[in-house]
Amino acid sequence: MPMRWRSPLAPLRAGPAGWAVLAIGLASTAVTASYVARAVRLAQDARFQEVSARATDAVRERMDAYLATLRSARGLFDGGRPPTRSEFRSFVSSLELPRFYPGIQGIGWVEVVRAADVERHEAQVRADGLPDYRVWPREPPRDPLTAITYLEPPDWRNQRASGFDMASEPLRREAMERARDSGFPACSRLVELVQEAGAQRQAGFLIYLAVYARPAATADQRRDALLGWVYAPFRAGDLLRETLGGEVMAGVRLDVYDGEEARPEALLEGAPGAAPADARPREVRLAVAGRPWTLRFARGAGFEVGLERWLPLATAMLGLLVSLLLFNLTGREVRSRRQAVRAADRARLLADAGKLLASSLDERATLAQVALRAARTHADWCVILLIEPDGPIRLVGHADPSLAGDAAQALQGMRLDPEASFGAAAALRSGQPWLSHDVDAATWARLAAGPAQLMGLELARVRSVLTAPLQARGEDLGAITLVSCDPARRFGEADVDMVLDLARLAVAAIDTSRLYRRAQQAVKLRDEFLSIASHELRTPLTSLALQSDSLRATAARGDVPPAVARKVEVIRRNVDRLAQLISALLDITRIGAGRLELQLERVDLAQVVQDVAERFEDEARRGGSELRVAVAPGIVGRWDRLRIDQVLTNLVGNALKYGQGRPVEVRAAADGDRALLSVRDEGIGIPLEAQQRIFERFERAVSGRHYGGFGLGLWIVRRILEELGGSIRVESEPGRGATFTVALPLGELPRADRPREALRADAGRPQP
Ligand code: ADP
Repeated sequence: MPMRWRSPLAPLRAGPAGWAVLAIGLASTAVTASYVARAVRLAQDARFQEVSARATDAVRERMDAYLATLRSARGLFDGGRPPTRSEFRSFVSSLELPRFYPGIQGIGWVEVVRAADVERHEAQVRADGLPDYRVWPREPPRDPLTAITYLEPPDWRNQRASGFDMASEPLRREAMERARDSGFPACSRLVELVQEAGAQRQAGFLIYLAVYARPAATADQRRDALLGWVYAPFRAGDLLRETLGGEVMAGVRLDVYDGEEARPEALLEGAPGAAPADARPREVRLAVAGRPWTLRFARGAGFEVGLERWLPLATAMLGLLVSLLLFNLTGREVRSRRQAVRAADRARLLADAGKLLASSLDERATLAQVALRAARTHADWCVILLIEPDGPIRLVGHADPSLAGDAAQALQGMRLDPEASFGAAAALRSGQPWLSHDVDAATWARLAAGPAQLMGLELARVRSVLTAPLQARGEDLGAITLVSCDPARRFGEADVDMVLDLARLAVAAIDTSRLYRRAQQAVKLRDEFLSIASHELRTPLTSLALQSDSLRATAARGDVPPAVARKVEVIRRNVDRLAQLISALLDITRIGAGRLELQLERVDLAQVVQDVAERFEDEARRGGSELRVAVAPGIVGRWDRLRIDQVLTNLVGNALKYGQGRPVEVRAAADGDRALLSVRDEGIGIPLEAQQRIFERFERAVSGRHYGGFGLGLWIVRRILEELGGSIRVESEPGRGATFTVALPLGELPRADRPREALRADAGRPQP
């Protein structure tokens, strides 16, 4: 029997609130994460912009600085006279090119040489300290030619270029002509420098600045006045590395292209390796000495800093975590609320069941209502089995009250197999609740009385069955079974506790009802016995009374000795006393059975008082009490004479018995529509606590050792007076006597049968 069962899906039963919290959490996580990703992207874009702008500025500034050196080199030619080789050399070395202008290969002077002057020019330069100098190439023949005359510093690379006629090469010539005609610096396209040699060849370019013999304003004038060019060859790789070295680039890769497009063949210089796959590279155009360059910036792997890479993901994970946490918390909250509601429902069911069971002693009726009540909120079926001597009874409640009848029909005649290992039999045998979540077809087949019943049971598709035994003092009374056909409602521990409580209530109710019935049976037997016994006693007593009367008559005639006559008197009094007791016993049975019949007639109260007083005369005298009577004449009502007599006899008898020999006073007077009759004594009195209860059956305020009696007299008096529509009350103080006052209606009885009805209803109640 799996008592503890917890679904692995329980955390998912978070209710709409839980799912809503999860949805909101996930949505806000998505929004936040995408916002963070966007912010990161914007920050990266801004940084990228800044890095590329800085790099562009650096290139521009560096080129401007180089152009400035060319301009200052041109200054050496002022006045149309070229500087001497040593002047030029000392100028260039003063610039400290490797230190302040890295990337620049050198600064040179290209002289225009007419074809006719070439030999002279070569001789002159050779004389100037370059014995191997020659102008080259000489083919095809050109006029004028140009020749690199000076190129400082004179390192081995630059020496290779000495005497070279750059105009012989179209790319260089184009730039030289542009410089010549414009008067501004002109940058060449991409060329391989003459200085390049070996494995470390780099792309290069040259910048030319024309030198004129005299100031010239137009292109023609400039051509005429042209002396040559100061120029600088650049190794692009060295230049850009130096310009953009260090952290300037911060993960941004820069490729510099000659021209307006980033064509691979025009690549001046780029970072080594394959270009990174930046979907959004940035291209910047830059004019370098009249030549367009394209700077292409792309973000590389090192561009993204750690925080940027993780922040969106971390935000999403954190959001997800918080959402799940909230989902879980909300789920818990929802579940504990649901549990609280269920607990309240169970408490309500128990309270209702308690009320229903207390409402009547007919346990079959109340338990049937309990079954209906339980099925309404806690199960599809609630079956209460009662084991009765005539066979089992099933009280059936169904969640749909209109089906309760059919359900009861379906279960009628279902077998109760005491050996069964399930349901009521199992619960009764073990004294423990029995719970199952899978009652199979075979079980139903054993329980069902016939195929039709089996079909009905299987149609119901029972999911969960919970049975609690009903046992009291080792006796099997029955069982309560809850059945659920709803897959969502599996009975759990709390239901087990509840059904046990319900079983306790039911057992108490059944037990009480059965005990009550047994007690009633016993009372009935007692009353029957009393009735028979008092009848049987009355017959010999009547004869005894007649005999003692005749003896007394004989004694009165003086036929017997005085001692015998006194004994006859004693016998007679005791016979009276015995007769009174027997009639009291008879009255008990009559009143208990509601059979106190009244003989209504005109009764004169003064007459009754007179009769009773006369009867007590002897007794009063013997007790030393004075019996005073003060009755107004003419108090007449429709009463039962014998019963009024009985009332007064009881009251006067008590007054004499408890009156301690002091005077007893009987008064009667009319008071409006009632007659008031009072009996007053000055005896032991009655404590306040007892003044109410002495009117109940067998209730006394004195001990039996001092005063004999049954405690029945006042009870009978009260019931007679209730029958007559009257009442009785007592006023007393202990030691100061007691006054009993009887009120009787003077008119007709309001409704002759009312008091008797009341008595009958009373008789049905459990008696104290
Ligand atoms: P019984 O006299 O046989 O005991 P009753 O029903 O007549 O039964 O009276 C009930 C009780 O009321 C008496 O036992 C007694 O304690 C008290 N009682 C009745 N009448 C008086 C009275 N006049 N004075 C004092 N106590 C009284």
